[in-house]
Amino acid sequence: MASTNGLSNARATHPLFSFGVITDVQYADIPDGHSFLGVPRYYRHSIQVLRRAVNHWNNIKKLKFSMNFGDIVDGFCPRDNSLAAVQKVLDEFHNFNGPVYHMIGNHCLYNLPHSDLTALFKIPSLHGEAYYEFSPSPEYRFVSLDAYDISVLGRPRDDPRAAVALRFLEDKNPNIDKNSPVGLAGLEKRFLMFNGAVGKEQLLWLDNVLKESTEQGQKVIVGCHLPLNPNSATAASLLWNYEEVMEVIHRYKCVKVCFAGHDHKGGYSVDSHGVHHRVLEAALECPPGSDAFGYVDVYHDRLSLVGADRMVSTEMIFES
Ligand code: ZN
Repeated sequence: MASTNGLSNARATHPLFSFGVITDVQYADIPDGHSFLGVPRYYRHSIQVLRRAVNHWNNIKKLKFSMNFGDIVDGFCPRDNSLAAVQKVLDEFHNFNGPVYHMIGNHCLYNLPHSDLTALFKIPSLHGEAYYEFSPSPEYRFVSLDAYDISVLGRPRDDPRAAVALRFLEDKNPNIDKNSPVGLAGLEKRFLMFNGAVGKEQLLWLDNVLKESTEQGQKVIVGCHLPLNPNSATAASLLWNYEEVMEVIHRYKCVKVCFAGHDHKGGYSVDSHGVHHRVLEAALECPPGSDAFGYVDVYHDRLSLVGADRMVSTEMIFES
């Protein structure tokens, strides 16, 4: 007990900055349902979770920004209501007293094209891509990856990236229904249509950002809708080329924590290079009256996720 107190006393108690987190709101104006595996889903309640998150973020302390890890609307949302549903969720986010950064998830892409979402989410990227980076403090950079860069979802049929994704799926998944994992073993279960990959140009961009961050002595927090580590998430939820992304990340020592959504139950692990992987619990699966959101206090030697209710608090300590 005494040594624990001694350790915490030795650490800074005032964060460099803090930011809000929420994922998988998956709002739709439809009755409650279940996931493929029978887990209850509360499509109308989830926007109330978001409303309470924004209230919490506005009242608890000064947050620099908030981060939405994707899937703001559900695939079951009636198509003629997609734009209105997305707008309704964005209106809730607009009540936050600060900037909100978004990631595109598969459920967003069942509703609207990739290019429309990039514009609606006001994604702060160059060249209209959905990946971006920013520095919330001189000591830190936040890198947000686009997990649906290479995907059959949300791209026009004649888009070369959709063609690459289709060929990839045809090669890796023997089923007619490319969302079926039948016949896929272990980590191959990720080769499903509802997942995607980070493309070559984005990988080069990531390498460049991490190189620059290293040169400038900055630490990096990575966000991606799809998880990047098999020990923090189910195989069926992983980014198709998570190994390629992690190979780039492990070239440098600047990335300290990777956050993701998509795998609703949440998870946490530390990889062989000491990078923390935290998959966040979904707002969609909160029974009425319960919550899943939080905020992260960022220190020079750790990130402290303070979760509300079903979002598990996590202390992530690293070599600074
Ligand atoms: Zn998802």
